[in-house]
Amino acid sequence: MWPPTLDQITFDLMCRDSRDYALSHGLVMRNDSEPNDNIVFQMPITLFPSPFPRRLYDCARAIQPHVNTLMQRIATDLEFMRTSLEGVMKVDDFTRKIFEINETVEREGRAQPIIGCISRSDYMLHATKCEYDVDGQVPKCRIGLRQVEVNAIAASLASSSMNIAQMHQYLMRKYQLIDVPQLESRFPANDGSRLVANGLIKAWDLYAKASAIILVVTENRSMNFSDQRIIEQLVHMQRPDIAMTRCRFTDLLDCISLGPNRELLFHKRTEVAVVYYRHCYDPSDYNFDGAWDMRLQLERSRAIKYPSSNFHLSGVKKFQQILNDQMQLERFLDADAALLLSRVFCRLWPLGFDDEGNAAYEMAMKHSKQNLVLKPQREGGGHNIYGEAIKPFLHNIKQHESRNQYILMEYINSPTTNNWLLTYDNSPVLEQGDLMVAELGIYGCVLTNGSSDSAELINETGGYLVRSKRFGVNEGGVVGGYGGLSSLYLVDDELGDATLTDGYFSV
Ligand code: ADP
Ligand code: MG
Repeated sequence: MWPPTLDQITFDLMCRDSRDYALSHGLVMRNDSEPNDNIVFQMPITLFPSPFPRRLYDCARAIQPHVNTLMQRIATDLEFMRTSLEGVMKVDDFTRKIFEINETVEREGRAQPIIGCISRSDYMLHATKCEYDVDGQVPKCRIGLRQVEVNAIAASLASSSMNIAQMHQYLMRKYQLIDVPQLESRFPANDGSRLVANGLIKAWDLYAKASAIILVVTENRSMNFSDQRIIEQLVHMQRPDIAMTRCRFTDLLDCISLGPNRELLFHKRTEVAVVYYRHCYDPSDYNFDGAWDMRLQLERSRAIKYPSSNFHLSGVKKFQQILNDQMQLERFLDADAALLLSRVFCRLWPLGFDDEGNAAYEMAMKHSKQNLVLKPQREGGGHNIYGEAIKPFLHNIKQHESRNQYILMEYINSPTTNNWLLTYDNSPVLEQGDLMVAELGIYGCVLTNGSSDSAELINETGGYLVRSKRFGVNEGGVVGGYGGLSSLYLVDDELGDATLTDGYFSV
């Protein structure tokens, strides 16, 4: 049974232990309500790891190399990008501007042929095929995997994820909640921060200039600084010869320039080998004079970018909708990979003014009750429209060109499990656990020499993220305050480890 039954004393001890572990191992964030950067708050976390079918975790990992390749193929097919994003760009200035930057860089000829992307592909569990047992009593469902989206820029929480996986293992051992021999098979290794650090190191090595640095582009105030710092520390521990500097995007205005061979110069002297964006994915990040020129300058430079503008664009949700089935995918992937990937796709629809878009519009007006999500081309949480709110929203934009920037997605019907969410200011109650929904993220890193048929210099998969949110909460981000960080507890559902009844996933 999962989570195991606890008495009150153990529950209280475990809650305190979890919080203290979080506070002492970098599972902390800054908070808007506290302007002092030296005061941090415990990240929202779950008391227990989240059960997840092993076969689906394995499946998500097996898919990731193909996701990496797919993104690379999209990124290097300018014509496909142009035709696919045409409608979106008419009404979405942000996507258009990134596209124009990419076009300028392509037209001028890339100073740096190597392009890179550190990404995270997100999935939820989906309860499918409900049928009744012979005696007609127990509804038996099957759980499948559905891809939510791919984050192509600033994919976060790889380090925090590693820490919480260790925290959960520590608690399970300390409170003897799991047999030690089971630990390894239940808790997969989580090395996402190593994947990111290695990706940065590899790019730096390929740039091949000993005095050049890695530049981390940050927000004005890094709320989730610890996740980023741990990656920097890993790079430094592994390679003390590599210098790494953080700089706020706004401050870069005064300190970057291009050298005669389009070297990116930091404070006119130091050459930048690698730019690692932990920012610059939301339109509001560019709300100051010179922001777009600066992004163009970074892209024009010889530095290797994580991600380059074309990789950044490859994460746009419109591509998810266009490449929504095996046939479309075969344009970029071989048949086996396309089949594997298409099996985890949700149904998606465009909302343009052609027949397909009009049919989708009418369908949403009829059926939007609970089973659809409306998404614009954005990253970072808080932009989607769910369920019953879709109808009035669509009604307002029926004749408006802005319809083009949205896609409709089938609502993923995730099974719930029991857990306790610990925020920095709540008081969980043993008898009132939270019904929670888990979301899995798999990290990938790809570096290629930039042509569409290029050999990938690296194509790696490593580490995972689990975010769990209370049932009924639509959005899912930890930093945005929607859910808590969690870790995996793998179960073999096909062997009877887990069952699903009425949307509840019991172990
Ligand atoms: P963003 O780029 O803003 O992170 P996402 O597509 O990841 O946008 O959606 C945000 C959150 O909304 C997800 O983390 C997930 O919790 C929820 N969500 C997104 N798509 C669906 C869906 N089709 N069904 C159910 N929940 C969804
Ligand atoms: Mg997301």
